[in-house]
Amino acid sequence: MKRYFLPFWLIFGLNSLLSIYSGSATMISETVHSLLDALVITFSMYAMKLVNVKDSRFTYGLHRLEIVSSLANVATVVVGSIIVSLISLLYLIEGMRDQPVILTFASVIAFSLSLLPLSKRDETTRSGVWLHAVQDSLAYLIGILTGVIIIATGWYFIDPVSSLVIVSIMVLTSIKSMKGSLYVIMEGSPLDIEEMESELRKEIPGIHHIHVWDICNHLRVATLHVEEQSNVTLKELDEKRVKIEKLLGERFNINHVTIQFESEAERS
Ligand SMILES: [Zn+2]
Ligand SMILES: [Zn+2]
Ligand SMILES: [Zn+2]
Repeated sequence: MKRYFLPFWLIFGLNSLLSIYSGSATMISETVHSLLDALVITFSMYAMKLVNVKDSRFTYGLHRLEIVSSLANVATVVVGSIIVSLISLLYLIEGMRDQPVILTFASVIAFSLSLLPLSKRDETTRSGVWLHAVQDSLAYLIGILTGVIIIATGWYFIDPVSSLVIVSIMVLTSIKSMKGSLYVIMEGSPLDIEEMESELRKEIPGIHHIHVWDICNHLRVATLHVEEQSNVTLKELDEKRVKIEKLLGERFNINHVTIQFESEAERS
């Protein structure tokens, strides 16, 4: 697990040293950004250890931490890149020049370190850390290119331009993840309920009033009603329940089902 967040603390350490050494405002804003990164990614990786902790209040466990963590990662990436680009805009307006050699040096090391967490995708994908690491690597790569161009040509105006490019990329690549997280929080159904109901009714005609929602990316919950004759036995209902649970698991990936049986007269 340390493999995921340690590189981000190393990047922060390096940026701090270079900030003190250079006094560069861009470097200082990079340091703030990398501190946010390190904090959020450390939080995310510890949160992933807690998702299965259940108690009498958190009866589903803490799987929503995956969603919270994804949103926190998206927010950090976007806010971090906005801070950095504001600083570089300020530099352009004030006609100040930064120290491209130090910035390029920092970007090269940060880029190599930010590639480390990308090797394994399981936990890091669920918590949004993987996307975050990809976005950071990309930003550092653009940073290297910018630095090299400035050193070679002296075109300092490239810096704020590339910062704005980075912000746009961060926002665009975050939209999908953010939408997905908000959809889960708003209890949007991952399936089209009408389609699902008509498909299920082919096999179990009495099915109605279906709710489906996701707790996280791999925990899907459903509740539904089934209309029954009033003279069926509990044993028959049990058999039907097992059949429905199997159907929902195999076809719709639903792993937690609650079924309400009701007679025609009492249908709700
Ligand atoms: Zn989960
Ligand atoms: Zn309802
Ligand atoms: Zn009903």
